[in-house]
Amino acid sequence: MNVVVTGGAGYIGSVCVEELLQAGHTVTVLDSLSEGHRSAVDPRARFVQVCLSDREGLRSAIADARPEVIIHFAALALVSESMAQPGKYFANNVAYGLNLIEAAREMGVRKLIFSSTCATYGVPERVPMNEDLPQQPINPYGESKLMFERILKWYHQIHGLEFVAFRYFNAAGASERCGEHHRVETHLIPNVLKVVLGQASECSIFGTDYPTPDGTCIRDYIHVTDLAQAHILAMKPGIAGFFNLGNGDGYSVRQVIQACEKITGHSIATVNQSRRPGDPPRLVAAADRAVRELGWKPRYPRLDDIVASAWQWHRRHPQGYPD
Ligand code: UDP
Repeated sequence: MNVVVTGGAGYIGSVCVEELLQAGHTVTVLDSLSEGHRSAVDPRARFVQVCLSDREGLRSAIADARPEVIIHFAALALVSESMAQPGKYFANNVAYGLNLIEAAREMGVRKLIFSSTCATYGVPERVPMNEDLPQQPINPYGESKLMFERILKWYHQIHGLEFVAFRYFNAAGASERCGEHHRVETHLIPNVLKVVLGQASECSIFGTDYPTPDGTCIRDYIHVTDLAQAHILAMKPGIAGFFNLGNGDGYSVRQVIQACEKITGHSIATVNQSRRPGDPPRLVAAADRAVRELGWKPRYPRLDDIVASAWQWHRRHPQGYPD
């Protein structure tokens, strides 16, 4: 199939591009390179540097690529930043996303696959979380993704555009070639590994007074290639709707740091900090729907394997991508 991947130079997008090419698809990446890295894009993919705010540029890129499916990763995804600059999140994740969906409709694209998030649920009533829980985001990031989910529902109902929205839990790990490199790193596993690489003296633990067994936040970490695989499965006709993607196992911040110590063989200095605004205490997926309807089967569900793949990539690329 002809596939357009927005954000294909970013962390999850670049791994998905590799998997799509591996599966024999033709891929055009659209990325502004504001967060992504040109060298993360597999050389077998076509690359167009365009920001989704540029409606004309976007329309002509999609007209050239003539995709049957668009996979839409390009977005901002930091809870704490969204709590400081909500407007930036609504512009990028909602308004620019709307430019994409309009272009998709005009060009007769069959399906849009969207990167949503477990942050759309807010503080869940229960864990593990299935897709039917109420969605009450507690930060503008989650709100912006929920708004786009709703836009997709209306476009499906009114224009017949098919969609799949994946609610990711915590993407982590790396493929052989592609890993996690944000210019300003805020994510837990890369921040912990920076200490091991000697690039930071200690790792902050944001909040030690949460209602969890060790007082730190619990998250469900999912290997980035397993996330990517779900997108390939979602391209099949007949697959539609909302799916959680996680392993169903929750690990606290302290448990993740311990796993990193075990895998790297280094002890990691930590410093307790106050809570980060907008962080729910515990997010763990029930991904039964994806397993049942997509036939999705994560290949690397163990936290140790996820951390090991991240460590391998960061050890080989201590400065991340060159660009
Ligand atoms: N966290 C932390 N120290 C860090 C980075 C993150 O304690 O240097 C915590 C963060 O507060 C959250 C969890 O680790 O509870 C996962 O955060 P991350 O930013 O990796 O992903 P998020 O869940 O925000 O998408």
